Amino acid sequence: MARSERQLGEHSGQGLSEDSRQALRGLPAIHLILDRLSSIGSAELIAPAVLADAARETLDGARARILGGDSTPTCVNRLAEEALELARRRHVPFHQRVINATGIVLHTNLGRAPLPQSAIDAACAVARYSNLEFDLDTGKRGRRLGGVGPLVARLMGAEAGTAVNNCAGATVLVLRALCGGREVVVSRGQLVEIGGSFRLPEIFKVAGVKLVEVGSTNITRVEDYAAAITPDTAALLRVHTANYRITGHAEMPGVESLGELARQRGILFVDDVGSGALQTARRREFEGEPDPRAGLAAGAHITLMSGDKLLGGPQSGLIAGNADLVRKVEKDPLFRALRLDKMTLAALEATLRIHLDPERAWREIPALAMLGASGDELRKRANTWASLLTAIPGVESVSVVQDQSPVGGGSFPGKDQPTWVVTIRAVGRSDEELSSALRRQSPPIICRVQEGHVLVDPRTVAPSEEAEFLAAVKCALAGK
Ligand SMILES: *Cc1c(COP(=O)(O)O)cnc(C)c1O
Repeated sequence: MARSERQLGEHSGQGLSEDSRQALRGLPAIHLILDRLSSIGSAELIAPAVLADAARETLDGARARILGGDSTPTCVNRLAEEALELARRRHVPFHQRVINATGIVLHTNLGRAPLPQSAIDAACAVARYSNLEFDLDTGKRGRRLGGVGPLVARLMGAEAGTAVNNCAGATVLVLRALCGGREVVVSRGQLVEIGGSFRLPEIFKVAGVKLVEVGSTNITRVEDYAAAITPDTAALLRVHTANYRITGHAEMPGVESLGELARQRGILFVDDVGSGALQTARRREFEGEPDPRAGLAAGAHITLMSGDKLLGGPQSGLIAGNADLVRKVEKDPLFRALRLDKMTLAALEATLRIHLDPERAWREIPALAMLGASGDELRKRANTWASLLTAIPGVESVSVVQDQSPVGGGSFPGKDQPTWVVTIRAVGRSDEELSSALRRQSPPIICRVQEGHVLVDPRTVAPSEEAEFLAAVKCALAGK
């Protein structure tokens, strides 16, 4: 077919060759494809609406192919098969469990902290009816935060505690409820952007609070804060510089001096610790993550912390501080909009309960156990994997090397953890091809890719997932 004729054909169907016209006429009606589908047993499990969409799209695709110059006749059986394949792909749930072999413990794209088993059980147990807002003693309406609130207070060392959907939400809520319409002073060195859409100046705008920036990116002194306080100032805000570090010639006042200044001037001190490290999560190698207790002890009126970073629980934002302020926060209409659901509350409560016992926390909270894994342990596991994988057909090379992995979730910036990884090369396949084959396994395996090799890190693969993991790697290497 001449080029000009084809272009015309794409627009109007005019000027098509006789073959193409015949092919168009030969396309079956949609109900014939659907009839064909209904005779295929496995299609029964797929919702009729999904099958109908797939049949329509397949037919549209066939029509477009013909208009594009491909006049191969299309039979109803082939179209039905194509539609079924499409419908099957759509039928696979979007949300799936994956095995995280990246070594990045708090991988935001992979759902951050993997939950402790008791938190998973707790969430499942309340998935039906539960006493979410029902007092089992009195038979009357109860407090939704009755379980989590006191635990947050206890663990963060505050008078009262509560929780909402996430820490970003907690920041907006606290600023709005406690400082709405007034000024809040922040250091220029702390005007952070976390994960693309959490920009502090925008958060301020949403909260209806006037941002007063003080100091410079690397140096802010307590006098800078003091000079910025006016009768309209509601609070000083400290934000932990979560995913970056300002190093070299840098100075920021400590929580003690900010607490003292806020007290003298009769304004609030709000401390956003971000990832935060509770007493239970404090170890020498994790220095640098702020302790929410330290801020509160130094005079912070309200402290905010994320639930799915070093706490190792479900996505949530913890708020702790003076009882009257926490009450005010809970009365704000935004609190209702950001409230936690029953499954998250149950999982969060279970996670917080584990934190009451530091030894249990390091054992039972997967994120902590993974971060606490020793180099020897990781090397041993990497060696075992390597020896099992070398023997597989399709492998070009396997080796165990020392490497670094970031913690993720904006925790410990600039402090990657030393780790041991297995590097794999497959015969005749690029690193991208092999990692894509790993992602197509069930469950999908997510790895790192570096300089032509695929890297898998034992740190984030739970021992209970190991057999499944190795079987999937074997399949991917065998080209399945
Ligand atoms: C991560 C982080 C947040 C946002 O927390 P989410 O729970 O992800 O909303 C806010 N502030 C700081 C300092 C953080 O590190």
